[in-house]
Amino acid sequence: MPASAPITQDVLTIRRDLPQGDRINIVGLTRDGLRAALIAAGTPDRQAKMRVNQVWQWVYHWGVRDFAAMTNLSKEYRALLDRHFTIEVPEIVSKNVSADGTRKYLVRIAGGHEVEVVHIPETDRGTLCISSQVGCTLTCSFCHTGTQKLVRNLTAGEIVGQVMLARDDLDEWPQPGQGTGDNGPRLLSNIVLMGMGEPLYNFEAVRDAMKIAMDGEGIALSRRRITLSTSGVVPEIARCAEEIGCQLAVSFHATTDAVRDRLVPINKKWNIATLLEALRTYPKASNSERITFEYVMLKGVNDSDADARRLVGLLKGIPAKINLIPFNEWPGAPYERSDWTRIEAFADIVYKAGYASPIRTPRGEDIMAACGQLKSATERARKSRAQIEAETGL
Ligand code: SAH
Ligand code: SF4
Repeated sequence: MPASAPITQDVLTIRRDLPQGDRINIVGLTRDGLRAALIAAGTPDRQAKMRVNQVWQWVYHWGVRDFAAMTNLSKEYRALLDRHFTIEVPEIVSKNVSADGTRKYLVRIAGGHEVEVVHIPETDRGTLCISSQVGCTLTCSFCHTGTQKLVRNLTAGEIVGQVMLARDDLDEWPQPGQGTGDNGPRLLSNIVLMGMGEPLYNFEAVRDAMKIAMDGEGIALSRRRITLSTSGVVPEIARCAEEIGCQLAVSFHATTDAVRDRLVPINKKWNIATLLEALRTYPKASNSERITFEYVMLKGVNDSDADARRLVGLLKGIPAKINLIPFNEWPGAPYERSDWTRIEAFADIVYKAGYASPIRTPRGEDIMAACGQLKSATERARKSRAQIEAETGL
């Protein structure tokens, strides 16, 4: 429709001004949700599909935050949108840039809470590590986030909003006349749900946010470029393939239940055998879409040759790759990183057994942005044992 197309009377008659707080944030609504919201605001049914497409493109393809800039909509329709809606992403409170180019954003969400978002540039791509919760209910003993109480789940808008604010900061919204990817490799080409929180304990919001990020008319990241990492919430694992379709990573970290109980306490609920069974029947696993097993290397705890051999034994029959993560230290952490020679010896056993075994290079350590170091300064309260038990039911 041309920009000047006449606007129908039924739209013009809607003049219900909403106070600022009652306006609905468009960011985070699915296409269906946006359609329903536009109709409720007075968009005629017969125009709804077109309006959804138009608004969607402005918000997610062009990165526009102001209705006034939506120049293919009539002035009246822009005014209607402005009365009923906002386009808001979380606010960047501070940004730290590491010597290696990693950027860590401290981001404020509604209620004054804070989460961290990390951008890791590589030569031909860039990965954004996003958060799904403020804090975490789980209490993995090597994870800094796990020492912080769960404050709340993020909304879908706050999750996809992290992708949008990073695109703002990286100046990566397309220019007019330019298609997605016209500008060479994207600075933000991959998303990992490996920041704060357990994404499978906030499933619906994570799903909706990732569907928005994958939508071809907007941010348009392929499902193969999105990886969700879970500590092993068994009943929700299959839904990841069925309802999102992204790649799956599992925080495995140990080869016996005794050690995994200690490192990843959710293991007391769903132990190694139960977890592996869920992964064996995972709907999307194939040789081209392997499940990543994350394995943090803790000196003297889980890093022996015997562990490496047990690990490959356990993974038989599962299309898997193993990502070894040198432990990242944080103040008061009860573990040490395995020596480099130990990590290499471990990697070698795994590799010779036929599994890819990349060692994850720690990035952004100087700004506490590496895996497991995230924790917001405003939420320092340390959990007590009793709280942990009450929250997790473990
Ligand atoms: N809650 C999810 C995703 C966030 S954690 C999960 O547990 O999978 C992302 C990854 O960082 C997980 O594999 C986690 O085990 C790992 N991790 C946590 N603390 C770490 C630390 N201090 N050093 C290295 N990796 C860590
Ligand atoms: Fe939570 Fe993941 Fe940290 Fe465990 S490793 S405490 S699940 S964020």
